Formats: sequence, C-alpha cells, structure tokens
Amino acid sequence: MPRRLNSLAVRRHDGGGTGVVKTLANSILGDYGTTVFTVMSALAAEHGAINLGQGFPDRDGPEDIRAKAAEAIIEGPNQYPPMMGLPELRQAVAEHNKRFHGLDVDWRREVMITSGATEALADCFLGLIEPGDEVVLIEPLYDCYLPMVRRAGGVPKLVRIEPPDWRLPRAGLEAAFSRRTKLIVLNSPHNPAGKVFSEEDLSFIAGLVRRFDAYAVCDEVYEHLIFDRRRHVPLMVLPGMRDRALRIGSAGKTFSVTGWKVGYVTAAAELLTPVAKAHQFVTFATPPNLQKAAAYGLRREDAYFEGLAAVLQSKRDRLRGGLAAAGFKVLPCEGTYFLIADFRPTGFNGDDDAFCRHITIEAGVTAVPVSAFYQNADAGHFARFCFCKDDGILDEAIDRLQRHFGGAGA
Ligand code: PMP
Ligand code: GLN
Repeated sequence: MPRRLNSLAVRRHDGGGTGVVKTLANSILGDYGTTVFTVMSALAAEHGAINLGQGFPDRDGPEDIRAKAAEAIIEGPNQYPPMMGLPELRQAVAEHNKRFHGLDVDWRREVMITSGATEALADCFLGLIEPGDEVVLIEPLYDCYLPMVRRAGGVPKLVRIEPPDWRLPRAGLEAAFSRRTKLIVLNSPHNPAGKVFSEEDLSFIAGLVRRFDAYAVCDEVYEHLIFDRRRHVPLMVLPGMRDRALRIGSAGKTFSVTGWKVGYVTAAAELLTPVAKAHQFVTFATPPNLQKAAAYGLRREDAYFEGLAAVLQSKRDRLRGGLAAAGFKVLPCEGTYFLIADFRPTGFNGDDDAFCRHITIEAGVTAVPVSAFYQNADAGHFARFCFCKDDGILDEAIDRLQRHFGGAGA
C-alpha cells in the first residue's frame, strides 16, 4: 500500500567520507508502509475483534485435499521438485484449462507452478517488463501490483473504475494505452470491487492489447468464486489472446488454504520462458507435497467447484443482508470473498481509515479501508468486509455492528 508509514527510505552517507550517498532500503519498496492486511489483522488481534479484514477462510479447505498433502510429506520425496513444477500438477492445470474453458494447453511448455499467485505476478513483472515499459493498471488495485511493477522498472498508467457499478471507462482505458504499453494487469473477479468484467469489456480490452501489440497479465485467483450463475471467462479465450495473455490461478483460493501459496501460470511458451527466468531466481520451486495435493484438488469433480461458489454466495448474501440492516449501503458483489459497503448512512463522519479503526476498537469487527487499494486515494467512505467465515461468526459480526450503529437488530 502506498502509505508512508514505517518509511525505510532513510538516506545515509557512507562512513568513508567518499561523498557517496546510499539509501538503506530500495527507494521504491522502502517508501511503502506495511500492507493494510497485516496492519488491520494486527489491530483485530489486539482488540479481540472479528477479523473481516484480510481475506482468508476461517475453515481450512477439504480434508481429502489436506490429507494428500500430509501423505505426500511422509511418503516423500521432499527434495527440490522440478523448477517448472511437478509434472502431475502441470498436467492437472492443463486439464483444468481444458475442462473449464476449452483451452488446449501443452503442460510441458505452457504451465509453470509458483509459490502463490503473488510469486506468479512478481515473476511476470520481473520477467517481462523492461525499464521504461508502460503498464496499464486498474484502480482500485490489489496491493502487490503497483510496488512490483514499479520495482521491475515499469511506468504505471492508472485507470479507475468507480463505485457503485465499477464500469470500465472505455475511453479512459484506451487513452492509457500507447506505443510503449507492454502489459495490462487484469484482475477478474476483482479484488476489492467484487466485479466480474463482462465479455464485452474483455473484448474491448483484447482489442486494445492486439492494437497496441501488448500483453495481459490476468490475475484470475477468484475464478471459482463467482456468483449468481455467472461463468468465469479468461481473457485468454478471446480472439488473439492465446499468445498474449498470461493466466494466473491460486490453489489457496480454489481450495480454501490461503497459507499454502501454490500458484500456477498458463501462457504460450514464448511468453512463459522469460517469466520462468524470474521464477528460477526468485523461488526456483514450490513445496512438492502441496503441489501433489493441488493436483489432486484440481481434478475433483464439478460438484466441488460448484459447491464452493454456492457456499460463498450464501455467505455473501448473509453478510450483505446484515450490513444493510445495520445501516450500510452495500455495493453489488459478483465474485471474490469481499463486499464493499458505504458507511456514510450509519452516520459515521470520518474517513475510511478512521472508520475501520473505529469499528475494530468500538464494535469489535474489523474491515479494511478501500482507499488502501489506490496509489493516491482521496478520503474514502467505503470499507471492505470479507465473508468467507462461518455463518455464526458472520452473524455475530452483524449483531455487533447492528448494536453499535443501532440498526434493525439492535
Ligand atoms: N491476487 C489477488 C487479487 C488476491 O486477492 C490475492 C490474495 N490472496 C493474490 C493475488 C495472491 O494469491 P496467493 O495467496 O496465491 O499468492
Ligand atoms: N488477498 C488477501 C486480501 O485481499 C490478502 C493477502 C495478504 O494478506 N497478502 O485480503
């Protein structure tokens, strides 16, 4: 997050009197504070608040998938797996692409396993961006995009989608593209907006990518967390995108095990090769037992994936109803773990940072301020609430907010 907390970019002079000025930290990363997820989780813990801030399920994913990981540790081997990932997981990722999206993928040349989608994103930026390349990003944006694009030497070109409907501003997006555009980063379903970009939007984006001879890094970690009978459509299936899109998924999200940090990238071999150059130096490999379990999980029956979306949809509805009854104006949510709510109708007058701290301390419920998802945010009035929690926890959080703000249940 571009907050200037804990800035490490303190200049210091070397002791040798040479006049050389050094900085302790890299000037780009050092200028960022601690991520909002860590800050708010710590505040929640300090105050014993129900943590609806950082996005993680409070119940670990399916036991059969976890059992595979446990068995694989005992059976071994526990040594370095292949740099590109275990063949069985790369095959499972290729099969998953075929089964859900009709994509024909060569698992040997077109799939790479990473330590979470976060590493996949970093590898794409480090492997593809040449300093000075322009990168189109859509605000609000997930926390690691901007620092990592900038650290890779990219020049960010930011376009905003605006609440309540988060419509893609087509003229603005087109204006952000230029001859120097290397990449667009596209996150759908979108964190934090909960927006699923329409096929018309995807066609428009694909048209720009083709016209400006660019590429698309597609963060699709919420591909299976999509509601109301919507279907996830990867940009990669659109005309001309098979060789221009890099599609990123996360076992953490798909199997409700966010601590596992197993990600996968699917891309044409020509695009994946430079990304693998970054991966080989960043982590090289990902724990083999978790890869085996993710391979097993990706091959689970359709009912598993449908059930996951159905359960989360009912949790979304539960929290949405409760927040509305507590006086919030809740925005639509088409996918992800998150609901965004406008807190002004509750009568709270401060900004979103103040609001999230206030409800943590005074109501015992934590959310994250949406302004944290912008490079330079104005004072905001939206908070993001995570709903991938037990129904009883959601009910208790709603109860606390209703009691605090005097909503229907008070
Ligand atoms: N992208 C988005 C949009 C996310 O919300 C997250 C968070 N979990 C990630 C990437 C990172 O995924 P992973 O935990 O697999 O690194
Ligand atoms: N993706 C999670 C969220 O948006 C947080 C991940 C993290 O803490 N880095 O809340």
